[in-house]
Amino acid sequence: MTEAERSKFDYDLFVIGTGPGGEGAAMQAAKGGWRVGVAERYRQIGGGCTHWGTIPSKALRYAVTSTMKSLKNPVMRELGFTVAPTMEQLGRGTQTIIGRQVSMRQSFYDRNNVPVHRGQARFVDEHTIRVDNGETITAAHFVISTGSRPYRPAGVDFSHPRIFDSDTILDMKERPSSITVYGAGVIGTEYASMFRNLGIKVNLINTRAQLLEFLDDEIIDALSYHLRDQGVIIRHNEHFDRIEGHSDGVVLYLKSGKVLKTDVFLWANGRQGNTDDLGLQNLPIEANNRGQIDVDEQFQTCLPHIYAVGDVIGIPSLASAAYTQGRAAGMHMLGQCSGNLRLHDIPTGIYTSPEISSVGATEKELTAQCVPYEVGQAQFRSLARAQITGETVGMLKLLFHRESKRILGVHCFGANASEIVHIGQAIMNQPDEHNTIEYFIETTFNYPTMAEAYRVAALNGINRLF
Ligand SMILES: Cc1cc2nc3c(=O)[nH]c(=O)nc-3n(C[C@H](O)[C@H](O)[C@H](O)COP(=O)(O)OP(=O)(O)OC[C@H]3O[C@@H](n4cnc5c(N)ncnc54)[C@H](O)[C@@H]3O)c2cc1C
Repeated sequence: MTEAERSKFDYDLFVIGTGPGGEGAAMQAAKGGWRVGVAERYRQIGGGCTHWGTIPSKALRYAVTSTMKSLKNPVMRELGFTVAPTMEQLGRGTQTIIGRQVSMRQSFYDRNNVPVHRGQARFVDEHTIRVDNGETITAAHFVISTGSRPYRPAGVDFSHPRIFDSDTILDMKERPSSITVYGAGVIGTEYASMFRNLGIKVNLINTRAQLLEFLDDEIIDALSYHLRDQGVIIRHNEHFDRIEGHSDGVVLYLKSGKVLKTDVFLWANGRQGNTDDLGLQNLPIEANNRGQIDVDEQFQTCLPHIYAVGDVIGIPSLASAAYTQGRAAGMHMLGQCSGNLRLHDIPTGIYTSPEISSVGATEKELTAQCVPYEVGQAQFRSLARAQITGETVGMLKLLFHRESKRILGVHCFGANASEIVHIGQAIMNQPDEHNTIEYFIETTFNYPTMAEAYRVAALNGINRLF
């Protein structure tokens, strides 16, 4: 569309939703000189990411792990610090971080002259939306970045004060002594781990045969071992029959005949795209039964001037990916090349204890593809830095091509795994001949560091070659 054609509309681009997907698109287009507006129905900008997803869950996890760690410290015990924090105290800390995020992110919209229209936005036709504050707005292009919410099955009473989903769990006022987490995806497993760290008895119910099947097998084994070692009861291949909320607890009846009763219950099984109240019936765009919208490689829907990014298009459903997708959509509509954005190179970060992170292929995938690969490993317990900090649980595993020595996958668990993995990702993404494990053998690392794990793992791998 030419500039003259775009000028007939109120905006060149209108974005629905201010999570990472919407922010990425809005900022990219605004910096490209376009007139951009956004709509947000929540009282503050930032999206589910800031208010009930990534940020509060990670802030809560940090508060839990750091306070519980210091409570175990003999000096702190000697000083009389023995009481675990209340949910109210933990919640207050989380709100402080959310507040900082909101004011920082609001400044991005202000500095880039992107007005935020408050209210629920719905399409009226292909170029018009109506916001429920009464405004009608036209735009040449749109980005749908309305995110997702927990899927709520019929027959579960989410209004019961002891039954939560991942959006409402942050409002839990009392610290329970036991919890059942139903659903062992990333969100369920992270919350199970966090509650266990708080000293709460945890049942983790998995509808599948393994935890987080998309991870490397050894990492899955390590996670299962450590969660069980900490006291989490994990049950695989289970499905609920019914869930009953009572005044003194919640009873979960499983199809296998097992019955579990805990103080509270967290439903963490599946998510639903936020498309049901978006006026899609006025467009040829259809959402699937999970509320998700189909897009092409450029994030365009079947209407090329309407893009969709983030959770509303389905996997990987990560804040990190949503932001990059938003930027890519913005670049595409500006006619810029988004080829350098590495949209398919999305690392996984899972904030359990131990933390997990990986990028690239798993052994399962390489074996299925008959790729001749070798493995190099470094156990954290053999690193001086880990011995000093006492964080000796963990491993870095490099998968590399036997002949070219190209790095094919980086898998890590243990303290700061989600940071450590990016060193491997950076080298993996170098042009051929510079993306091999030899880089780690030839490089001098600060000593003592966790980064040294790369040299140890690379040497371990090279020594396996014959
Ligand atoms: C408990 C939990 C932990 C998570 N942890 C991580 C993590 O550690 N790392 C990670 O990368 N990801 C994590 N995620 C996932 C991450 O939060 C999402 O992938 C991310 O928020 C998706 O961004 P988005 O922009 O698509 O949508 P969102 O962030 O959900 O934003 C969508 C926005 O659109 C608004 N909206 C919706 N419909 C309308 C409408 N019609 N009109 C106006 N506004 C509308 C909503 O109010 C919301 O503000 C976690 C998620 C959860 C639930």
